[in-house]
Amino acid sequence: MKKTGILIELENGRVKETSLGMITLAARTEADLHALVLDGVDDTACDILAQYGITTVVDLALASDPEIRLNPAVRADAAAQAAQKLQLDVIFGLSSADGKDFIPRVAALLDAPLVMDCLDVDLEKNIARTSQYSGKVLADIQLTGDVVIFGIRPNAVQPVPSPAQTKKITVPADNTVPADFVLVSWDDGENSSRTSLAEADIIVAGGRGLKNKDNFSLIFDCAEKMNAAVGASRVAVDEGWVSYAYQVGQTGEKVNPQVYITFGISGSIQHFAGMKTARMIIAVNKDDNAAIMANCDYQVQGDVFEILPELIRQL
Ligand SMILES: Cc1cc2nc3c(=O)[nH]c(=O)nc-3n(C[C@H](O)[C@H](O)[C@H](O)COP(=O)(O)OP(=O)(O)OC[C@H]3O[C@@H](n4cnc5c(N)ncnc54)[C@H](O)[C@@H]3O)c2cc1C
Repeated sequence: MKKTGILIELENGRVKETSLGMITLAARTEADLHALVLDGVDDTACDILAQYGITTVVDLALASDPEIRLNPAVRADAAAQAAQKLQLDVIFGLSSADGKDFIPRVAALLDAPLVMDCLDVDLEKNIARTSQYSGKVLADIQLTGDVVIFGIRPNAVQPVPSPAQTKKITVPADNTVPADFVLVSWDDGENSSRTSLAEADIIVAGGRGLKNKDNFSLIFDCAEKMNAAVGASRVAVDEGWVSYAYQVGQTGEKVNPQVYITFGISGSIQHFAGMKTARMIIAVNKDDNAAIMANCDYQVQGDVFEILPELIRQL
């Protein structure tokens, strides 16, 4: 039976849905599932992890001082040391904004092979399915090593409860800040209070059709009403209407929501590369011949400046 460690991401102390999806993916193969939690784990979080099949909750007991706790080198060292002490065979983490920084550091410390942005993993053979060349092909990549690491695309797997008996242990982190990696300052950024793009169930995205920054605020208004995240085409980012953090596509965020709604986006291959795995795509565009109209589940042919304000009013 494989010993699998799952790097759990929390949001305001609660286990993220996307972390639960990773547990469901890992539980498909008979495994001893360890949840590695860096940011403190209370009884409620332990109960949730138990409901989804975690057998051991591992509290890495990072220092509460943010200068230590938020230091990427301290975090990676804590996870790598726990993996060694627990003799894990496999590690799962989220290919989220944090995970993309964190997981490769853990892999480097363990000298372990790593694949990021996995859509699926066969743990019997350690084979990850990933999308390559802007989504044109799917590649199956097999990893070999004493410990192997998979970064899982958020929302790749919907969480399914599978209760287990759970115990909690502590594997304390070193909490030593290395001299060559000191955290000088940090900023939660403009997105901190918003639903994270990579993990959102619903995304409302805008493109050149919005015409300017002021109009783009309609996208934010609509997203807020739907409790959705905001996405943007590269044109909207290049024009300076929103920051790069909102860009979806080949050179932006790869998203996997239940519903992706576009307003004034043509549907270039580069945009599709980031959102084609959405379960449902709804497009609003005035041009019936726009590529997005032929590649969506529902299309609304019309002017965003008529449709968006009315949609917001009705929501
Ligand atoms: C190497 C490379 C990487 C790239 N990476 C990305 C990426 O990651 N993400 C990305 O998005 N792009 C990327 N691009 C750019 C991409 O090729 C397109 O230029 C871009 O996606 C187009 O953005 P858009 O759909 O907003 O604009 P456009 O293609 O100009 O489309 C605007 C659409 O709005 C519609 N419209 C206009 N006015 C209205 C209105 N009033 N009501 C309704 N509809 C209206 C039009 O009919 C049109 O279909 C990349 C390009 C390259 C070369």
